[in-house]
Amino acid sequence: MNKVYICFPGGKAKALTMSYDDGKEEDRRLIDIFDANGIKGTFNLNFGLMDNAKYVDGHPRIEKEDVREVYKNHEVATHCFTHPTIERCPLTEVAYEIIEDRKGLEELTGKLVRGHAYPNGSYSEEIKTLFKQLGIAYARTVNSTQGYGLPTDPLEWNPTTHHRNPELMNMAEYFVNFKKAQYLKLMYVWGHSYEFAMQNNWEVIEKFCEYMGHKDDIWYATNIQIIDYMDAARSLKFSADSSFVYNPSALTVCIDVNGKFVEIGAGETKSL
Ligand SMILES: [Zn+2]
Repeated sequence: MNKVYICFPGGKAKALTMSYDDGKEEDRRLIDIFDANGIKGTFNLNFGLMDNAKYVDGHPRIEKEDVREVYKNHEVATHCFTHPTIERCPLTEVAYEIIEDRKGLEELTGKLVRGHAYPNGSYSEEIKTLFKQLGIAYARTVNSTQGYGLPTDPLEWNPTTHHRNPELMNMAEYFVNFKKAQYLKLMYVWGHSYEFAMQNNWEVIEKFCEYMGHKDDIWYATNIQIIDYMDAARSLKFSADSSFVYNPSALTVCIDVNGKFVEIGAGETKSL
């Protein structure tokens, strides 16, 4: 009987993802730091607040015509059309907030927009159900776990930590030095890029990214890449004795078979 473990792409057991909200101008500098270190992030934007002439508050937002170029290496996700505290709103209004944001962001990026970060961390069971029905595959909360697990409920995806946590570099060290592969581990960091400008502490994220970047055993992924990959991994169909497997998904999935790394291509049936 083969011993099979699901791996991240490349046979890795660790992943890092970043999630930054509100789409302010400071995202440009943050993205330069991510790109220099091979790190991937998800940026949660409010399509209805991008008119800077009306809404500017000292931290202007990325202009609509720049969104596609600025975020081209990363994921753009929803953060509601106008950033309301949605738990207090009628559900029809919440539906409008998500659909209008999706429509606008999909037009700007030319890509599917299926992710979300709850504005002000606000959500409910009803909202989770509604979002799923409106094509949202996952939604991030503001409840840091200090842990490194994959989400058990993607519509209530609790991050590892905000970047302002004084333990950030200790957590990064723990993650980088963790070498056991019995569990898939994920470090998930969130925040707002304008916090670095307000606190004048860009070195916090520069240090973190320089330390975490370009590691051979870490998969650098956007939020939706992790969700889609784990869905594909879960969809693998194994024979009863694990001697062969069928991958019905559109993604290559990596597994470990008796300690050996094996890739199952999209649509492929493979002997193990
Ligand atoms: Zn926000």
